[in-house]
Amino acid sequence: MKQILTLLIGFFVLFSCNNVKNDSSLEVKSTEFTEKIEPTFGIVIHGGAGTILKKNMTDSLENAFHSKLKEAISTGHSILEKGGSSLEAITATINIMEDSPLFNAGKGAVFTNEETNEMDASIMDGATLNAGAVAGVKRIKNPINLALSVMNDSPHVLLSGAGAEEFAREQGYEMTDPSYFYTKKRFQSLQRIKKKELEKKTANVSFEDPLIKNSKFGTVGCVALDKNGNLAAGTSTGGMTNKQWNRIGDSPIIGAGTYANNTTCAVSSTGWGEYFIRAMVAHDISAMMEYKGVTLHEAAQEVIQNKLPAIDGVGGIVAIDKDGNVAMEFNTPGMFRAHMNAEGELIIKIYKDE
Ligand code: ASP
Repeated sequence: MKQILTLLIGFFVLFSCNNVKNDSSLEVKSTEFTEKIEPTFGIVIHGGAGTILKKNMTDSLENAFHSKLKEAISTGHSILEKGGSSLEAITATINIMEDSPLFNAGKGAVFTNEETNEMDASIMDGATLNAGAVAGVKRIKNPINLALSVMNDSPHVLLSGAGAEEFAREQGYEMTDPSYFYTKKRFQSLQRIKKKELEKKTANVSFEDPLIKNSKFGTVGCVALDKNGNLAAGTSTGGMTNKQWNRIGDSPIIGAGTYANNTTCAVSSTGWGEYFIRAMVAHDISAMMEYKGVTLHEAAQEVIQNKLPAIDGVGGIVAIDKDGNVAMEFNTPGMFRAHMNAEGELIIKIYKDE
């Protein structure tokens, strides 16, 4: 009888313990479940870096920049919030900035020395390391969309000039009349730079003139992390005012103007493209994280504040890492920039000390 009683007590104790164990594992499971249904996401944009000073800005222009940056980032953010991909979010966001004359991309593209507009763009998928880019297109309203088509619908990464437009035609893109890209402000900038260049030539001043160095780089770019943990980056530009000989900058160069890798971060650059190509800025930030194990913030700071200035490079980047950490780093007096996190908190800034 005593033995049966001991056995019964034993069973009772064992049963209670099991119950406790099951309860706590349920708790763990429910924590895991909570984490899964609310994954983090985020989006960061730039509208160019350069000599952007408060004293040269009117209130109405500042407001116009603020509201366009807000419209663009909110569009991408709501795509991400609804579970859309980082690639969808960045193309929709960049399209809004390409359609605005405020930025040096699409509608507001700067003029070449030949008084035409030649646009460059690129996009990269951090999940697959697939990428697409176009350079020197003249009749494409939204070059970032064509970059995406190159990535998705061609076996290539970078198409240029007439060939890129031929591909666009085959993909059903509408050819935009080049007059669409005319804006008085950009045309006047070209005339001003041409005049200065002429004066420079006559005075025999070196190429690395402060006028070029201090100019504004109004390229647009966007990086995003979606709810599935996928990173993507995109950049679109008219290049640099007065460029000639079919010059191509960093924006369509994967690794320089744009880079995304799910294991590290997504980066979009803006600045004097030649230096960004030589420093392989976007990839270098990712590589520093991958090989040195540094944070996104440390990598971005090292590249933009030390490595780039060491070769006289000017400009900045926006970046986001796989955990949603963000960098908006630049070595110029200003950079149009905005960030929105999963909680919907929005930051919009223009100048350095803001
Ligand atoms: N990086 C671009 C280029 O060199 C210019 C810019 O950022 O505005 O073409």
